[in-house]
Amino acid sequence: MTVDVGNLWLAGEAKLFAPTKSAILEKNIPAPYRAPGNEWVGLSMRARTIFYNPSKVKEADLKGYADLATEKWKKRLCLRTSNNVYNQSLVASFLENLGAKKSEEVLKGWMANLATDVFSSDTLVLEAIDAGQCDVGISNTYYFARLLKKNPNANIRVFWPDQDGRGTHVNVMGGGVLKSSKNKELAQEFLEWASGPTAQKLFASLSFEYPVNPNAEVDPLVASFGKFKADAMPLYKAGLHQQSAVKLMDRVGYK
Ligand code: FE
Repeated sequence: MTVDVGNLWLAGEAKLFAPTKSAILEKNIPAPYRAPGNEWVGLSMRARTIFYNPSKVKEADLKGYADLATEKWKKRLCLRTSNNVYNQSLVASFLENLGAKKSEEVLKGWMANLATDVFSSDTLVLEAIDAGQCDVGISNTYYFARLLKKNPNANIRVFWPDQDGRGTHVNVMGGGVLKSSKNKELAQEFLEWASGPTAQKLFASLSFEYPVNPNAEVDPLVASFGKFKADAMPLYKAGLHQQSAVKLMDRVGYK
Protein backbone atom coordinates (compact mmCIF):
# COMPACT_ATOMS: atom_id res chain seq x y z
CA MET A 1 0.00 0.00 0.00
CA THR A 2 1.28 3.47 -0.82
CA VAL A 3 0.09 6.97 -1.65
CA ASP A 4 -0.13 8.49 -5.10
CA VAL A 5 -0.56 6.94 -8.50
CA GLY A 6 3.04 7.96 -9.27
CA ASN A 7 4.29 5.48 -6.66
CA LEU A 8 1.76 2.77 -7.56
CA TRP A 9 2.69 3.10 -11.20
CA LEU A 10 6.43 2.85 -10.42
CA ALA A 11 5.79 -0.32 -8.39
CA GLY A 12 3.86 -1.68 -11.39
CA GLU A 13 6.72 -0.81 -13.74
CA ALA A 14 9.11 -2.61 -11.39
CA LYS A 15 6.87 -5.70 -11.83
CA LEU A 16 6.25 -5.98 -8.08
CA PHE A 17 2.55 -6.84 -8.39
CA ALA A 18 0.89 -10.19 -9.03
CA PRO A 19 -1.96 -10.20 -11.57
CA THR A 20 -5.27 -9.69 -9.78
CA LYS A 21 -8.68 -10.71 -11.04
CA SER A 22 -11.59 -9.69 -8.85
CA ALA A 23 -15.18 -8.90 -9.74
CA ILE A 24 -15.55 -7.27 -6.30
CA LEU A 25 -12.71 -4.78 -6.90
CA GLU A 26 -14.05 -4.03 -10.37
CA LYS A 27 -17.52 -3.40 -8.96
CA ASN A 28 -16.39 -1.28 -5.97
CA ILE A 29 -13.69 0.85 -7.58
CA PRO A 30 -14.41 2.96 -10.67
CA ALA A 31 -12.11 2.15 -13.61
CA PRO A 32 -10.17 5.48 -13.64
CA TYR A 33 -8.83 4.64 -10.15
CA ARG A 34 -7.43 1.20 -11.04
CA ALA A 35 -4.52 0.05 -13.20
CA PRO A 36 -5.73 -1.18 -16.60
CA GLY A 37 -4.95 -4.79 -15.53
CA ASN A 38 -6.03 -4.17 -11.89
CA GLU A 39 -2.52 -4.94 -10.59
CA TRP A 40 -3.04 -1.93 -8.32
CA VAL A 41 -6.27 -0.34 -7.16
CA GLY A 42 -7.08 2.97 -5.49
CA LEU A 43 -8.50 2.64 -1.97
CA SER A 44 -9.09 6.29 -1.09
CA MET A 45 -9.15 9.46 -3.12
CA ARG A 46 -7.70 12.90 -2.50
CA ALA A 47 -8.30 16.01 -4.57
CA ARG A 48 -5.37 18.34 -5.30
CA THR A 49 -7.12 21.62 -5.62
CA ILE A 50 -6.80 25.39 -5.24
CA PHE A 51 -7.03 27.18 -1.87
CA TYR A 52 -7.26 30.94 -1.38
CA ASN A 53 -7.36 33.66 1.23
CA PRO A 54 -10.86 35.22 1.00
CA SER A 55 -9.57 38.57 2.34
CA LYS A 56 -7.31 38.81 -0.72
CA VAL A 57 -9.09 36.91 -3.48
CA LYS A 58 -12.63 37.00 -4.84
CA GLU A 59 -13.82 33.52 -5.74
CA ALA A 60 -15.02 34.82 -9.11
CA ASP A 61 -11.40 35.69 -10.01
CA LEU A 62 -10.35 32.04 -9.80
CA LYS A 63 -10.62 29.90 -12.92
CA GLY A 64 -8.27 26.94 -12.65
CA TYR A 65 -4.72 25.62 -12.51
CA ALA A 66 -3.71 27.10 -15.89
CA ASP A 67 -5.18 30.48 -15.02
CA LEU A 68 -2.77 30.72 -12.04
CA ALA A 69 -0.07 31.24 -14.70
CA THR A 70 -1.58 34.53 -15.87
CA GLU A 71 -0.29 38.00 -15.02
CA LYS A 72 -3.05 38.76 -12.47
CA TRP A 73 -1.52 36.27 -10.01
CA LYS A 74 1.96 37.84 -10.07
CA LYS A 75 3.68 37.48 -6.64
CA ARG A 76 0.51 35.89 -5.22
CA LEU A 77 0.95 32.14 -5.79
CA CYS A 78 2.46 29.61 -3.34
CA LEU A 79 3.51 26.09 -4.21
CA ARG A 80 5.08 23.03 -2.65
CA THR A 81 8.41 21.70 -4.01
CA SER A 82 8.56 19.88 -7.36
CA ASN A 83 10.25 16.80 -5.87
CA ASN A 84 6.94 15.95 -4.22
CA VAL A 85 5.12 13.15 -6.06
CA TYR A 86 1.74 14.90 -5.70
CA ASN A 87 2.98 17.79 -7.84
CA GLN A 88 4.66 15.41 -10.28
CA SER A 89 1.32 13.64 -10.79
CA LEU A 90 -0.51 16.97 -11.12
CA VAL A 91 1.94 18.12 -13.83
CA ALA A 92 1.69 14.66 -15.46
CA SER A 93 -2.08 15.23 -15.69
CA PHE A 94 -1.41 18.57 -17.44
CA LEU A 95 0.80 16.75 -19.96
CA GLU A 96 -2.03 14.32 -20.67
CA ASN A 97 -4.79 16.94 -20.75
CA LEU A 98 -3.09 20.05 -22.17
CA GLY A 99 -0.12 18.71 -24.13
CA ALA A 100 3.58 19.51 -23.67
CA LYS A 101 3.62 23.06 -25.05
CA LYS A 102 0.71 24.40 -23.02
CA SER A 103 1.92 22.59 -19.88
CA GLU A 104 5.31 24.29 -20.18
CA GLU A 105 3.64 27.70 -20.57
CA VAL A 106 1.58 27.05 -17.45
CA LEU A 107 4.59 26.06 -15.35
CA LYS A 108 6.64 29.03 -16.58
CA GLY A 109 3.74 31.28 -15.59
CA TRP A 110 3.55 29.68 -12.15
CA MET A 111 7.26 30.27 -11.62
CA ALA A 112 6.85 33.94 -12.61
CA ASN A 113 3.95 34.31 -10.17
CA LEU A 114 5.46 32.83 -6.99
CA ALA A 115 4.99 34.99 -3.90
CA THR A 116 7.89 33.30 -2.12
CA ASP A 117 10.19 30.26 -2.26
CA VAL A 118 8.46 26.90 -2.65
CA PHE A 119 7.45 25.15 0.59
CA SER A 120 8.39 21.66 1.79
CA SER A 121 4.80 20.61 2.60
CA ASP A 122 1.17 21.24 1.67
CA THR A 123 0.48 22.28 5.28
CA LEU A 124 3.07 25.06 5.05
CA VAL A 125 1.42 26.30 1.84
CA LEU A 126 -1.96 26.43 3.60
CA GLU A 127 -0.50 28.17 6.67
CA ALA A 128 1.09 30.78 4.40
CA ILE A 129 -2.30 31.41 2.75
CA ASP A 130 -3.93 31.77 6.19
CA ALA A 131 -1.18 34.20 7.26
CA GLY A 132 -1.65 36.30 4.11
CA GLN A 133 1.86 35.60 2.81
CA CYS A 134 0.25 34.00 -0.24
CA ASP A 135 -3.13 34.75 -1.80
CA VAL A 136 -3.58 31.40 -3.50
CA GLY A 137 -1.97 27.96 -3.53
CA ILE A 138 -2.40 24.26 -4.27
CA SER A 139 -2.79 21.49 -1.69
CA ASN A 140 -4.40 18.11 -1.15
CA THR A 141 -7.77 18.39 0.52
CA TYR A 142 -7.02 16.30 3.63
CA TYR A 143 -4.29 18.73 4.77
CA PHE A 144 -6.95 21.45 4.78
CA ALA A 145 -9.24 19.25 6.90
CA ARG A 146 -6.41 18.60 9.39
CA LEU A 147 -5.66 22.33 9.59
CA LEU A 148 -9.34 23.13 10.18
CA LYS A 149 -9.45 20.60 13.05
CA LYS A 150 -6.69 22.60 14.76
CA ASN A 151 -7.83 26.04 13.64
CA PRO A 152 -11.51 26.17 12.62
CA ASN A 153 -11.20 29.91 11.91
CA ALA A 154 -8.39 29.62 9.35
CA ASN A 155 -8.78 32.29 6.69
CA ILE A 156 -8.72 29.81 3.82
CA ARG A 157 -11.35 28.72 1.32
CA VAL A 158 -11.39 25.84 -1.13
CA PHE A 159 -11.88 26.40 -4.85
CA TRP A 160 -12.82 23.60 -7.26
CA PRO A 161 -11.30 24.22 -10.69
CA ASP A 162 -13.31 23.22 -13.72
CA GLN A 163 -11.26 24.95 -16.40
CA ASP A 164 -12.23 23.79 -19.88
CA GLY A 165 -14.67 21.37 -18.25
CA ARG A 166 -11.90 19.09 -17.00
CA GLY A 167 -12.53 19.29 -13.30
CA THR A 168 -10.25 18.91 -10.31
CA HIS A 169 -7.11 16.74 -10.27
CA VAL A 170 -7.65 13.71 -8.06
CA ASN A 171 -5.23 11.05 -6.94
CA VAL A 172 -5.39 7.95 -4.79
CA MET A 173 -3.82 6.04 -1.97
CA GLY A 174 -3.93 2.43 -3.06
CA GLY A 175 -2.47 -1.04 -3.03
CA GLY A 176 -1.91 -4.29 -4.86
CA VAL A 177 -1.00 -7.91 -4.20
CA LEU A 178 2.76 -8.41 -4.29
CA LYS A 179 4.24 -11.13 -6.48
CA SER A 180 6.40 -12.08 -3.49
CA SER A 181 3.37 -12.49 -1.20
CA LYS A 182 3.02 -15.84 0.55
CA ASN A 183 -0.70 -15.18 1.02
CA LYS A 184 -1.95 -13.83 -2.29
CA GLU A 185 -5.53 -14.95 -1.74
CA LEU A 186 -5.75 -13.33 1.69
CA ALA A 187 -4.10 -10.17 0.34
CA GLN A 188 -6.72 -9.94 -2.38
CA GLU A 189 -9.50 -10.53 0.15
CA PHE A 190 -8.07 -7.68 2.22
CA LEU A 191 -8.16 -5.32 -0.78
CA GLU A 192 -11.72 -6.44 -1.53
CA TRP A 193 -12.75 -5.77 2.08
CA ALA A 194 -11.00 -2.39 2.00
CA SER A 195 -12.98 -1.44 -1.13
CA GLY A 196 -16.38 -2.14 0.49
CA PRO A 197 -18.62 0.67 1.81
CA THR A 198 -17.93 0.08 5.54
CA ALA A 199 -14.12 0.05 5.33
CA GLN A 200 -14.21 2.86 2.78
CA LYS A 201 -16.19 5.14 5.08
CA LEU A 202 -14.01 4.31 8.08
CA PHE A 203 -10.70 4.78 6.29
CA ALA A 204 -11.63 7.91 4.35
CA SER A 205 -13.03 9.53 7.52
CA LEU A 206 -9.87 8.82 9.54
CA SER A 207 -7.60 10.29 6.86
CA PHE A 208 -10.07 13.02 5.72
CA GLU A 209 -9.94 11.65 2.20
CA TYR A 210 -12.76 10.71 -0.18
CA PRO A 211 -13.86 7.09 -0.58
CA VAL A 212 -13.15 5.71 -4.07
CA ASN A 213 -16.26 3.56 -3.75
CA PRO A 214 -19.13 5.86 -4.80
CA ASN A 215 -21.49 3.99 -2.42
CA ALA A 216 -19.50 4.94 0.70
CA GLU A 217 -20.29 7.99 2.82
CA VAL A 218 -18.00 11.04 2.88
CA ASP A 219 -16.89 12.45 6.27
CA PRO A 220 -19.06 15.49 7.20
CA LEU A 221 -16.09 17.89 7.48
CA VAL A 222 -14.83 16.82 4.06
CA ALA A 223 -18.37 16.99 2.63
CA SER A 224 -18.55 20.60 3.88
CA PHE A 225 -15.92 21.55 1.25
CA GLY A 226 -18.70 21.15 -1.33
CA LYS A 227 -19.24 18.95 -4.34
CA PHE A 228 -16.77 18.96 -7.19
CA LYS A 229 -16.22 17.40 -10.56
CA ALA A 230 -13.19 15.09 -10.58
CA ASP A 231 -10.95 15.03 -13.66
CA ALA A 232 -12.04 11.90 -15.53
CA MET A 233 -8.50 11.09 -16.74
CA PRO A 234 -7.66 7.43 -15.92
CA LEU A 235 -5.00 7.81 -13.23
CA TYR A 236 -2.50 5.38 -14.76
CA LYS A 237 -1.97 7.97 -17.49
CA ALA A 238 -0.32 10.24 -14.91
CA GLY A 239 2.19 7.40 -14.47
CA LEU A 240 2.95 7.36 -18.19
CA HIS A 241 3.88 11.06 -18.06
CA GLN A 242 5.69 11.00 -14.70
CA GLN A 243 9.24 11.17 -16.07
CA SER A 244 8.39 13.91 -18.58
CA ALA A 245 6.72 15.84 -15.76
CA VAL A 246 9.89 15.75 -13.64
CA LYS A 247 12.00 16.91 -16.62
CA LEU A 248 9.55 19.69 -17.42
CA MET A 249 9.55 21.01 -13.86
CA ASP A 250 13.36 20.95 -13.87
CA ARG A 251 13.47 22.80 -17.21
CA VAL A 252 11.31 25.70 -16.00
CA GLY A 253 13.34 26.04 -12.79
CA TYR A 254 10.63 24.71 -10.48
CA LYS A 255 12.68 23.90 -7.37
FE1 FE B 1 0.03 13.47 1.99
